[in-house]
Amino acid sequence: MLLKRQKSEINLNPIQRGGILTKEGREALIEFGDGYAIYDISPGLEIEDIPVIKDFLEKELPEFLESDIAKFTLGAREGIFNVMHCITKPGDTIIVDGNRHYSTITAAERCKLKIVEVKNSGKPDYKINVEDYEELIKKHKPSMILLTYPDGNYSNIPDAKKLGKIAGKHKVPYLINGAYSVGRMPISMKKIGADFIICSCHKSMASSGPLGILGAKKKWEKILFKKSELVNKEIEFIGSESRGTSVATLIASFTKIKERIENWDKEVKKARYFSAEMEKLGIMQLGEKPHNHDLLFFEAPVLYEISQKHKKRGYFLHQELKKRGISGIKPGLTKNFKVSTYQLTKKELDKVVSAFREIIEENL
Ligand SMILES: *Cc1c(COP(=O)(O)O)cnc(C)c1O
Repeated sequence: MLLKRQKSEINLNPIQRGGILTKEGREALIEFGDGYAIYDISPGLEIEDIPVIKDFLEKELPEFLESDIAKFTLGAREGIFNVMHCITKPGDTIIVDGNRHYSTITAAERCKLKIVEVKNSGKPDYKINVEDYEELIKKHKPSMILLTYPDGNYSNIPDAKKLGKIAGKHKVPYLINGAYSVGRMPISMKKIGADFIICSCHKSMASSGPLGILGAKKKWEKILFKKSELVNKEIEFIGSESRGTSVATLIASFTKIKERIENWDKEVKKARYFSAEMEKLGIMQLGEKPHNHDLLFFEAPVLYEISQKHKKRGYFLHQELKKRGISGIKPGLTKNFKVSTYQLTKKELDKVVSAFREIIEENL
């Protein structure tokens, strides 16, 4: 059975915009679509020994992340789990931001850790004040701290560098979750002062996935890459984690990824423009304002009001947008929803704003 996607002219889905393949990535997908096809690059070699991949891991990725070492993981969540699993013991405490992704919690639970959360400031900004980590570090003596940069709900950009200083002062390992930043915007593990950085290639790096990257300081190399005494393979990564198609798409897209992060200012400008236009329609943006990321969280009492009387109830919005060639807002949602403006043109964003205006005027 051939599965089919629902496609649209304009896709606003925040989890999909940064993962759209480049032309080169799409070619790689076809070339390396067969299982284990990656091994045909250099027959006989293990994946991480294939020269182009070895160079990518040992040189290109550490340069890009400003980390000392880099490793492929199955995704961001697995990378977070890998770090937790390597540097903590069951029963340890970790401190995470209150805006963390759910997978931070499940990864910690899989490692049997106690989780302490730094609260956000609540509605409407939901900001994380990184200074709040310090008291909790003193109180709980955590094995590690984690900051989501930005988070996947409000996409606030917390002061990661300041937290790096706090982590350094208290000598606590610091992980930065860059699932929504690495591959979209400039970010440097070194400048932040983190020990680990986590990336999601299918979320933000124009790759098919599932694929993640873990960047780390050299001092963690022995612990992360510890080898089995029975077979000459790394234990944490079960010998070799991501191996194949997704890696080929990432490498193929990488030149364009490096180029596109240089245009981040333009992406932020577009997001702010879109946010301002939506607010004129009575649809309010929550999270930091002015906003610093393409992911936008909206609250739309006007659309909710329509949904209460509409025969399609909450599904009217998805349907009305679909009629106009726009997708990516979860079916059923009206009161709160998220969109991404990443790599959409101003013309496309204007079309989206006009669609919302029309939908409100026709249904209110
Ligand atoms: C999407 C997301 C993840 C999970 O990414 P995967 O690579 O699919 O595991 C983790 N953290 C944040 C903040 C995310 O937005």
